[in-house]
Amino acid sequence: MEEWMRSALLSLSKSKGANDLAKRYGLRFGAQRFVAGETIDSAIAKVRQLNDSGLKVTLDHLGEFVSDRNEARESADYCLRTLDAIAQSGVTANLSLKLTQLGLDIDRELCLGHMKEILERARSHGNFVRIDMEDHTRCQVTIDLLLQLREQFDNVGTVMQAYLYRAADDVADLASRHVPLRIVKGAYKEPREVAFPLKADVDQNYKKLVQRSLGAGNYTAIATHDEALIRFARDYTDREGIAPSQFEFQMLYGIRPALQQDLARAGYTVRVYVPFGTDWYGYFMRRLAERPANVAFVLRGMANR
Ligand SMILES: Cc1cc2nc3c(=O)[nH]c(=O)nc-3n(C[C@H](O)[C@H](O)[C@H](O)COP(=O)(O)OP(=O)(O)OC[C@H]3O[C@@H](n4cnc5c(N)ncnc54)[C@H](O)[C@@H]3O)c2cc1C
Repeated sequence: MEEWMRSALLSLSKSKGANDLAKRYGLRFGAQRFVAGETIDSAIAKVRQLNDSGLKVTLDHLGEFVSDRNEARESADYCLRTLDAIAQSGVTANLSLKLTQLGLDIDRELCLGHMKEILERARSHGNFVRIDMEDHTRCQVTIDLLLQLREQFDNVGTVMQAYLYRAADDVADLASRHVPLRIVKGAYKEPREVAFPLKADVDQNYKKLVQRSLGAGNYTAIATHDEALIRFARDYTDREGIAPSQFEFQMLYGIRPALQQDLARAGYTVRVYVPFGTDWYGYFMRRLAERPANVAFVLRGMANR
């Protein structure tokens, strides 16, 4: 994609005004393709469909960059309700969340308290919670909080972004502590001081991170829609005799569904990241930034209204 367009979409993804508007007007502009409705019930119905077709799920109640204590509390309550709904409905899903939705930008202790409640509830249901990785300014604090939580909970993991120079060292460190890791390319607008600007370098680093995490015997989620990287992971695990029980593939809801099915049919564990809720705007803009065809799809939808 033209770099200026990607950059513009990623800047827009942070607009609080646009986010508030989007919340008020409901799921629009084709966002339904990437977001499984606004309520827990609609999300659970989608999870059930995906489970029936052989796929596991991680549910994400959308929200980020919260700057108000009440909103952070509401978000934490929503995460608790989502864990209860997963348990009550009997679907196969765990939870993904972002620390800024739980108040990280307001007060670290507040966020930590919310996380402990959520992990306690997940543990009571025998479930797992993944902390998504946000932009690089929050990377170190996310790792610090994660390690603090790991002293009490083993049902929590996080995400490593291959575009960050620091990721290889972080993976080595976290894998040696057996922290479950999801490896992604990275979805935010980052300066070249901290992140590889070229896609080829990001892809190369992605392979290195997968090898490091798996090579350390760590449970690894290989989260990408990139067929070359998926082929690499399949070849590497075959060659090294790494059991399929040590890793899973992950993809986003609405992206490459046929590929998700192919991998599941080939006997791999495939988990789909299913976001839901009213706070869909930032997530949707990042999906548009990843692929120009998505912008054309939105414009066509608007023209046909
Ligand atoms: C399960 C999961 C969890 C994630 N969690 C995080 C996280 O915590 N933090 C973070 O920074 N990022 C996260 N990401 C996003 C990730 O960083 C990438 O931005 C995203 O996955 C696109 O990169 P790619 O690996 O698919 O490769 P790309 O090279 O971007 O894409 C490969 C191919 O996949 C398809 N594709 C990719 N994106 C799209 C799209 N939006 N629409 C349609 N087709 C597409 C296209 O066919 C494309 O050619 C997550 C991704 C996944 C799959």
